[in-house]
Amino acid sequence: MSSDFHDDTALQAPPIAFDNSYARLPPQFFAEQAPTPVSAPKLIKFNEVLARELGLDVDALRLDAAAIFSGNELLPGSQPLAMAYAGHQFGNFVPQLGDGRAILLGEVKDRNGRRRDIQLKGPGPTPFSRRGDGRAALGPVMREYIVSEAMYALGIPTTRALAAVTTGQPVYREEVLPGAVFTRVAASHIRVGTFQFFAARGDTESLKVLADHVIARHYPEIRDRANPYLSLLEAVADRQASLIARWLHVGFIHGVMNTDNMTVSGETIDFGPCAFMDAYDPATVFSSIDRNGRYAYANQPGIGQWNLARLGETLIPLIDPSADTAIDLANTIIKAYGERFQAYWLAGMRAKIGLASEEDGDLDLIQSLLAIMQQQSADFTLVFRRLASLAADEDVSDFAASFQEAQSVTPWLERWRERLVRDPQTPAARAVAMRRVNPAFIPRNHRIEQAIQAAVDDSDFSLFEALLEVLARPYEDQPAFAPYAEPPLPTERVLQTFCGT
Ligand code: AMP
Ligand code: MG
Repeated sequence: MSSDFHDDTALQAPPIAFDNSYARLPPQFFAEQAPTPVSAPKLIKFNEVLARELGLDVDALRLDAAAIFSGNELLPGSQPLAMAYAGHQFGNFVPQLGDGRAILLGEVKDRNGRRRDIQLKGPGPTPFSRRGDGRAALGPVMREYIVSEAMYALGIPTTRALAAVTTGQPVYREEVLPGAVFTRVAASHIRVGTFQFFAARGDTESLKVLADHVIARHYPEIRDRANPYLSLLEAVADRQASLIARWLHVGFIHGVMNTDNMTVSGETIDFGPCAFMDAYDPATVFSSIDRNGRYAYANQPGIGQWNLARLGETLIPLIDPSADTAIDLANTIIKAYGERFQAYWLAGMRAKIGLASEEDGDLDLIQSLLAIMQQQSADFTLVFRRLASLAADEDVSDFAASFQEAQSVTPWLERWRERLVRDPQTPAARAVAMRRVNPAFIPRNHRIEQAIQAAVDDSDFSLFEALLEVLARPYEDQPAFAPYAEPPLPTERVLQTFCGT
């Protein structure tokens, strides 16, 4: 249909229908910044299912995916910017961090009418880069892709992976690594640290603009409450309590729960040094930079509370004209977070051991199992998955084999069976319900490392693809992928993870 006199493309809808609410906020919220082009972008992965969910024009994007998702080609409607934020890093306050290696391309309304950010990670320097290069290495990009998509499939709120490309350019860390760009999708990239940025400057006016933006975007139901800013703190606390409980239910260790890595939307964000634990030990730490175990597995609920207290502090001037009153109100919510977390955690743990009813002794029953698992170095994921089989089967041999000494768990199993007698579900229904909450497959650290090694050393992405495939259905037995359910052999064990910054 095209003629020499008429350019059809000008009439076509752009492949991404951007509508950028954050870019409409006042200028102190961000720095306008375009991505820096790279020499030889090559597509590793484009998540077409997610692209469709976002309402993007998948066919158009596919044609030019490497250029678009490297930042080489900027689509119409994109208003690239780096967001301003502050944050407590390992407990120390840094008044200005900001997107130093990330650029927000813009926002879209997805098929469900929800606003979603589309952001490039590793697209080159921004005014917030300080001494960093604004780039990302291939390994961390693959890790974020695998783990964020695995979290999604597990049913845990998280940012998503839309695409990954290699840049054709090296990045210089402790070693020279292939460079890559990751495209992240989030309900928003607003963090506790975004509030801290304005609070640290005493800029209450901007803080109010930010809080109103967050309420409109993530918590519209609280807009007309008597004290919406106090309700905002309560709503964020509730989502974080639920989120962190769910991390614990699957053995996830975030690794760097700084306040700039905690969203106000309640999505998991920033998969730097994160990892899932194999053998159960509440003190597990993977991150090479977390030397004191601040962000160890079992510390995560308490750190969540600490971070929420920092959010509460920023909201004081909005909560009440009297600081004393505001502090009292905020403190009540920060304290209640502990009970909320405990309730979410216990409910999820009851489900994991197959209980649909509640009794006072359940907490002790759960803690007793965890204590044996810790003492016997039992694999966290396998124990619960195999317990699901026991709900409708008498043969304990597989389950018991997860413990160093098989008989160590026999008395506990007797207690469990006794408790099940007073629970309403049929054994068959219980087994089904347990398999829905106890995954067979998690992104095991050694598998991620193997996939990264093959890609970095040999440009072989087959392990990466296999991992994405198996982890997309974590609650199903997938016999073809049986080895992926297994813990690492002693020689395969990966004890440390790195931010890769
Ligand atoms: P993160 O460890 O990803 O939470 O990042 C903490 C801060 O360091 C953020 O402000 C990042 O933007 C910044 N940062 C991390 N890596 C780089 C990099 N390679 N170049 C520039 N800034 C970076
Ligand atoms: Mg971060």
